[in-house]
Amino acid sequence: MTGRPDLAGRSPAQARHAVTEPVACPDLPCPDCGRPRYLQPPEVGPDGTAHGTTSGIGCATIDCPTAGLPLPVWLAIDRAVAAGAADLCPAGRPRPRAHGLPVPWVTPVTRATGPLWRDLHTARLARAQLESLCQVCGLGCDRRFSLIVDPHGHCLTSAPLHEECARLALAVCPAPSRARARTVTATRAQIHTRGDIAVELAMTQTWRYKEPRSGAT
Ligand SMILES: [Zn+2]
Ligand SMILES: [Zn+2]
Repeated sequence: MTGRPDLAGRSPAQARHAVTEPVACPDLPCPDCGRPRYLQPPEVGPDGTAHGTTSGIGCATIDCPTAGLPLPVWLAIDRAVAAGAADLCPAGRPRPRAHGLPVPWVTPVTRATGPLWRDLHTARLARAQLESLCQVCGLGCDRRFSLIVDPHGHCLTSAPLHEECARLALAVCPAPSRARARTVTATRAQIHTRGDIAVELAMTQTWRYKEPRSGAT
């Protein structure tokens, strides 16, 4: 899991609409008792940085067998979609919009909360990393793709982007400008990866762009 600021959590509009309190989610009911589950956002430190990128969702009904055993919200969303619910953030272009912003494919969305701007959909991020899917639109990228990186080459969100999707992200998200981020074009060979990908363990990689030698400072 990346601990870095990411595209999904840092713009003023996104921060304004970030979920910071528990929210009842009737669209994601408890599979045991059928009552709405409650979404619990990641804790936010005094500096406004969220600890982790996964909201939990759990049942709060006393005596329910699953009470107090929250799941990652992206997993509850995926299960609901597999059971026939609408995918509120499907792959494709143009992107669905909320709060005046395009919603990236790796941002979990529930009907009760809208986009969870501070969250990352771990399974989608893992797929993006494994299959070179674009983090913004969820569609496949070419062998060369864009990355949005900070001055040290660290990806803000460790996954590829299409050139036009990177442009969109840079245009609408103040996050990259605050991080003095830029877009680079890379192949897999130019990415230093750290960590492993194991969705079951909520593990994804952290990516860093290897500067070409001529551009070294
Ligand atoms: Zn329950
Ligand atoms: Zn894209």
